[in-house]
Amino acid sequence: MSASDTSIVWFRHDLRLADHPALVAAAKRGGPVIPVFIWAPEEEGKWAAGAASRWWLHRSLKSLSESLDSLGMRLTIRRGPSLAAIQAIAAETGADAVYWNRRYEPAIVLRDTKIKSTLKSGGLHVESFNGACLFEPSIIKNKQGKPFQVFSAFWRSCLSLPEPTTPIRRPSKLVAPKTWPKRLTVEALGLEPRVDWAGGIREAWKIGEAAAGQQLKRFVSGGAAGYLTGRDRPDRAGTSRLSPYLHFGELSPRQAWHSVRRRQSDMPPGDAEDSMACFLRELGWREFAYHLLVHFPHTVNEPLRDQFRAFPWGHDDAALAAWQRGQTGYPVVDAGMRELWTTGWMHNRVRMVVASFLVKHLLVDWRAGAAWFWDTLVDADLANNTLGWQWVAGCGADAAPYFRIFNPILQGRKFDPGGDYVRKWAPELAALPTKWIHAPWETPPSVLETAGIRLGRAYPKPIVDHATARKRALAALAESRQG
Ligand SMILES: Cc1cc2nc3c(=O)[nH]c(=O)nc-3n(C[C@H](O)[C@H](O)[C@H](O)COP(=O)(O)OP(=O)(O)OC[C@H]3O[C@@H](n4cnc5c(N)ncnc54)[C@H](O)[C@@H]3O)c2cc1C
Repeated sequence: MSASDTSIVWFRHDLRLADHPALVAAAKRGGPVIPVFIWAPEEEGKWAAGAASRWWLHRSLKSLSESLDSLGMRLTIRRGPSLAAIQAIAAETGADAVYWNRRYEPAIVLRDTKIKSTLKSGGLHVESFNGACLFEPSIIKNKQGKPFQVFSAFWRSCLSLPEPTTPIRRPSKLVAPKTWPKRLTVEALGLEPRVDWAGGIREAWKIGEAAAGQQLKRFVSGGAAGYLTGRDRPDRAGTSRLSPYLHFGELSPRQAWHSVRRRQSDMPPGDAEDSMACFLRELGWREFAYHLLVHFPHTVNEPLRDQFRAFPWGHDDAALAAWQRGQTGYPVVDAGMRELWTTGWMHNRVRMVVASFLVKHLLVDWRAGAAWFWDTLVDADLANNTLGWQWVAGCGADAAPYFRIFNPILQGRKFDPGGDYVRKWAPELAALPTKWIHAPWETPPSVLETAGIRLGRAYPKPIVDHATARKRALAALAESRQG
């Protein structure tokens, strides 16, 4: 075998071996394959992986590395700049081809375009693939040839296309080069925190491709059938918890899609079958987020709707800090923020409530919330996070209107009716009777006393009054419209 059959596979947000188009393309050539990971946070600009993501990435790389070892392969880890690292590895190994699966973050698209053209002009064969989405985000357009800004029309258009192809099996055999290029250890990247704050995250998650597969299997054979009603209940395990696996590509969306589709096809029409359809539609929201990221790349930092550029956001550092620490005095908000801090994840319903609280009750700029989520979520994903925040703030595509302001008390009562979610994450309120659990400040003093709770001490009084905050938010909206 001549050295010119050697291929580099550049792993990025696709830390798996199955359903990996770039790996399969390299394996098909029949020559040696060099799996590579390059750590280059400076190339991601403001949106370099946050602390929780780095923690996850450390473990995900270890897991991928072990999977490759078991096939007699090695993961070559280098530091950026990415172009120089790839050129160096190609020179050391004689590789003449580079394969990767595409990423869609604006800074990465610019970088990869440049890398592709430089490598090609240096005589290398370069090919990229879609390994992250069900449908290539750039090709979906409306009848006028424009990108969609409304989810339902976008999703109808996706569903009119041929169904996503079935996932590709992991290559059964990969050819190792005669000698491996030198490499760094995962530890050398310094992704782990110096002070170990990650005990709660460690307890909550298993990391890597095998764990992702097990989580998918568990969900499809269990919770998926009740997803339609269970998905809005933070007090139950009603959602798939697949988001970090999808973000890091330990699982592909095609694997999730087809696994659920197979189960759906076994079911008679009814709630369970509807639940599967509802789940597939949520994967559709992820697709929509990537579509928006590709077509409106400025939205990672700016509102999609121009009229929100003049919105009079406040700058209240104390309020922001109270929100971040789960000390707002609104139990469902505080429970959510503490779940996030402890486990690196928060239930979607609660994400909407806490985001709305920050943006509307506290009038803090949605970008401050997005930045906090970015640092603390293990599933922090530029497409989904941007969509989520702009949706709540009312300044994005197909967003909730700004004037619709979530009432944290009613949201708590409706979606955490027994108060179990609050009791779990705000244990200082655990002894409060359910009637009062979502509004402790309304609790009669004798009940508070019996429960052993002193408001303002063990648990804060509300940092804003709901009705006053609502009026202030609506006034700010009116002001921005006049401006
Ligand atoms: C303010 C805000 C910020 C968010 N930030 C992120 C983020 O950084 N990363 C992230 O993955 N999701 C984000 N979401 C979307 C959603 O909350 C999470 O995807 C979901 O909670 C993950 O849990 P799950 O895997 O159990 O979801 P499930 O309900 O089981 O859904 C399955 C998958 O569908 C996708 N999905 C579900 N809901 C949405 C949605 N509303 N938008 C886009 N994709 C969706 C996710 O990939 C998810 O893993 C955000 C939502 C809000 C309101």
